[in-house]
Amino acid sequence: MSHGLISVAEAERRIRAAVRPLPGERRPLHLAQGAVLRQAVVAERDQPPFDRVTMDGIAIARAGWERGVRRYRSVGVQGAGAPALEVNADDECVEIMTGAMLPTGAGCVIPIERVRLEAGRAAIEEDYRLDPGGHVHPRGSDYRAGETLLKPGTLIRAPEMAVLASAGQPEVEVARRPAVAVISVGDELVAPGLDLAPYQIRLSNDRAIEAALNQRGLATVTRLTLPDEVEILKREIARAHEANDLLILSGGVSMGKYDYVPEILSALGIELVLHKVAQRPGKPMWFGISAAAKPVFALPGNPVSTLVCLVRHVIPAIYGSMGAKMPELPMVALTQQVEFAPPLTWFLPVKVSWSGAGIGLAKPRPTNTSGDFASLTGSDGFVELEAEHEVFPAGYAARLYRW
Ligand code: AMP
Ligand code: MG
Repeated sequence: MSHGLISVAEAERRIRAAVRPLPGERRPLHLAQGAVLRQAVVAERDQPPFDRVTMDGIAIARAGWERGVRRYRSVGVQGAGAPALEVNADDECVEIMTGAMLPTGAGCVIPIERVRLEAGRAAIEEDYRLDPGGHVHPRGSDYRAGETLLKPGTLIRAPEMAVLASAGQPEVEVARRPAVAVISVGDELVAPGLDLAPYQIRLSNDRAIEAALNQRGLATVTRLTLPDEVEILKREIARAHEANDLLILSGGVSMGKYDYVPEILSALGIELVLHKVAQRPGKPMWFGISAAAKPVFALPGNPVSTLVCLVRHVIPAIYGSMGAKMPELPMVALTQQVEFAPPLTWFLPVKVSWSGAGIGLAKPRPTNTSGDFASLTGSDGFVELEAEHEVFPAGYAARLYRW
């Protein structure tokens, strides 16, 4: 490990230990997709709530069938959403529809395709053999009333949404999407649409950060650009800290004369958790926690560094602040050998394809420098290559972080 640097694993551990989950909020179901549950959800009723007919057909008593009865008299028609009719005799049947409650006294259903039904008389095809399940989905066979169906921390996608609705909940307690201020720091930065001088630079990191967060539905983002001026930085960072749950600064954390961000964050009472990580890109990264327990990330401004640090360190912390687990990170195999001698974790951009056998193949897409953000277009993310090794042969399995 290089002098004075902490490892990526240690940075991850410190960030995880420092970040506290935000309080939740109640949302109507139609606004809850993509959110993270902050409550358990228990079953309102047994599922199915009654013996549920799974085919259109006739419902009969099993005893009659076993005694050889093959002709039945219809005593009524019952659809889904209607109370149960009754089968009282061996030769009685109810004409029954999918989703209906099994009639009282009936034990099974014979599909309509196997029945000749005429003038209230039902005859069963000669070669029909009774289905042992009887085309009935028994009450409580999926789950029982009071059973826990969803745990806190679960991401609400389509299947979870169906379970929420079926549990009878019109609203649900979910993690609040954190309000995140994205603060770009640098005298040279000019937003798209404004004129710029030859010595100025287009502001782009804020848009990249915003896109990565929005694409995951992770945050409500406010963007702010500040010059390299101590008093303005102090005032505006303090304001942004008041108004937001988490701050992401980019630029001004390195060792230059105008890199004021670390000292300003300390002056604002933000407690340093880590500064400088044994990683490339992104070595100067700074992270602290305010007295109000709000996480503050200060990322190096070089665009590749900013984006890599965001995906590797900030996004997992935001999941943590929502009380959610990070989506699982796949392992992918390098398509060719790469070498990296410095004792740093190397985040190598890659393009991923899938082999016929379903193995993710990561083709290295190195950038010229950590300022070369244009070459990231078309890449899928980066792989994490451990500081302990220098040679990573073709086929080496590495963890993939997607943009
Ligand atoms: P810094 O981390 O402030 O030393 O900046 C490193 C490099 O990244 C410099 O070339 C900056 O001009 C560039 N840079 C800093 N912030 C941004 C930004 N928000 N968008 C695009 N480039 C940036
Ligand atoms: Mg700068």
